[in-house]
Amino acid sequence: MTFKRFAEHLAGIEAESGRLEIIRRLSVLFAELAPEEWPKAVLLLTGRVAPEFEGLEFGVAEKEAAKALAMALGRDEAELWKEVRELGDLGRVAETELPEHEGGLPLLAVYDQLRDLAEDAGPGSQLRKRERLADLLKSASPLEGLYILRIVTGRLRLGVGEATILEAMAQALLGDRKKRPLLERAYNLTSDLAYVAELALKGEEALAHVQVQVGKPIRMMLAERLPDAEAILKKLGPHLAEYKYDGERVQVHFDGERFWVYSRRIENITHQYPDLLEALRAHLKRPYILEAEAVVYDPDTGELLPFQYVLNRKVKHLTPELIERYPVKAFVFELLYLDGEALIDLPLTERRKRLEAFVPKTERFEPSERRWIESVEALDAFFDLALEVGDEGLMCKRPDGNYEAGKRGFKWVKYKRAAGGRLADTLDLVVVGAWWGRGRRSGTYGSLLVAAYNPAEDRFETVTKVGSGFTDEDLQKVLPERLDPLRRGEPAPRVWALLEPDVWFEPRLVIEVEAQEITLSPNHTCAYGRVKEGRGLALRFPRFLRYRDDKSPEEATTPEEVVELYRLQWK
Ligand code: ATP
Repeated sequence: MTFKRFAEHLAGIEAESGRLEIIRRLSVLFAELAPEEWPKAVLLLTGRVAPEFEGLEFGVAEKEAAKALAMALGRDEAELWKEVRELGDLGRVAETELPEHEGGLPLLAVYDQLRDLAEDAGPGSQLRKRERLADLLKSASPLEGLYILRIVTGRLRLGVGEATILEAMAQALLGDRKKRPLLERAYNLTSDLAYVAELALKGEEALAHVQVQVGKPIRMMLAERLPDAEAILKKLGPHLAEYKYDGERVQVHFDGERFWVYSRRIENITHQYPDLLEALRAHLKRPYILEAEAVVYDPDTGELLPFQYVLNRKVKHLTPELIERYPVKAFVFELLYLDGEALIDLPLTERRKRLEAFVPKTERFEPSERRWIESVEALDAFFDLALEVGDEGLMCKRPDGNYEAGKRGFKWVKYKRAAGGRLADTLDLVVVGAWWGRGRRSGTYGSLLVAAYNPAEDRFETVTKVGSGFTDEDLQKVLPERLDPLRRGEPAPRVWALLEPDVWFEPRLVIEVEAQEITLSPNHTCAYGRVKEGRGLALRFPRFLRYRDDKSPEEATTPEEVVELYRLQWK
């Protein structure tokens, strides 16, 4: 396929808003690809040249891209900026100004050039990137130029999520979009869409046999919630309860030599924990994949400190001083792979046995604290103990449960304390729109329209308007900085809303919100019609708590969970 043809497909997909229509268009595109083009085309659809966990970014700001386009066209940069303001974005300027070319570059050649551009780093790379991009644009026709620029500046916004790509892949390669779960399993185990495409090309057999691999992040298993000890015992029976530590979840991969650490949202955060990795290297020699909660402790008292402290390690240059000031200890709660053997399908009790045989108790890491629970009294007593030592509560786990990558289910149940008069848990929601403020807030955002993510439909469903809990700094500085680049004229394709905010956003920013109650609402689309015909669910008295950069929009709270929280209110 030529990149020109690929770009025509992208334009067609972008013009659609219906999900089924998008899937149909994607599968038409897929059907035209040669086998060797598949993995790369799938990556390009996500606006990347490598899976996200590899962290390979283009590093081309819009300003640089404009310089490259000016070079390619032999035009004055200032003049181009005038056009950018008229047409809305640089891509559109390329589309208007570049001359038509016959034929067109092969898709694979453009991919290779984009990849070279992304990989070019170090001294002088900025200038080289600009030249490479200018060369590529010189041979591009209008539509090609538009999408090349959108891809390299991180602005390809087709409105297709991974779930939709997987479904279209199922349609094109396995003949039925209902076979998405087969592909989803492979994706949950490897987090690598291009690799899943390669497997799917080989057929269902290859997909069914995929296993976890050291170096490729496993999408994390998540917990459901229940209101109290009675409900938990009723659901799980006798089970294993563990302290629920309040730090950062880390998935550590070790191949005998090299380490990879992945965050909850599958970002490579290896550089954040050099001290922990040193401690692990000293004790654990065989290849493994484990999961732990990394918690900062007070070096003077040994006391565990809350989640916010881990954020001090999320800086570009982690200095030895910072590491010393914020030491971490890891509480290991999963062993997913050991020495050539994947353990994820073993029952929890067996995984735990192996974990405890493998992971010793040391100064910088140890197995999570656990207790075998058979009664409500024992569970409550252990819960109180957890709060007393400063943990958030408990994680209750079914003894026969396997590790379900990428799924939230009742094999794990979280048991947290509900603060008086509030919902049992907070929600992580995606900002999809906003209204301008008045009075003290005029000139900035007054309240935000936020949404839950429905993975089955790959869509964002609105659940409330949040206006309280923001500091002056949030309102004056942080929110405009973070939201302005996401603004768009109409609702983003995957957003389903009945309200009309003043501005719409690309669904990117995830915030944690607490609320007093959940009610039925004709204005919100979350779980629409699920509890009552013609009504969605809405949060009352919501309050902003913090930014959740550790979560991708697709990891936001689901409508399913909102329904659960709604029902939990009367327990
Ligand atoms: P979630 O991760 O479920 O989407 P969240 O990030 O808001 O939601 P909670 O739902 O409150 O966090 O709790 C789940 C998290 O608790 C896990 O992702 C993990 O980081 C943490 N955790 C702490 N201790 C444990 C443990 N013993 N077992 C499993 N997870 C634990």
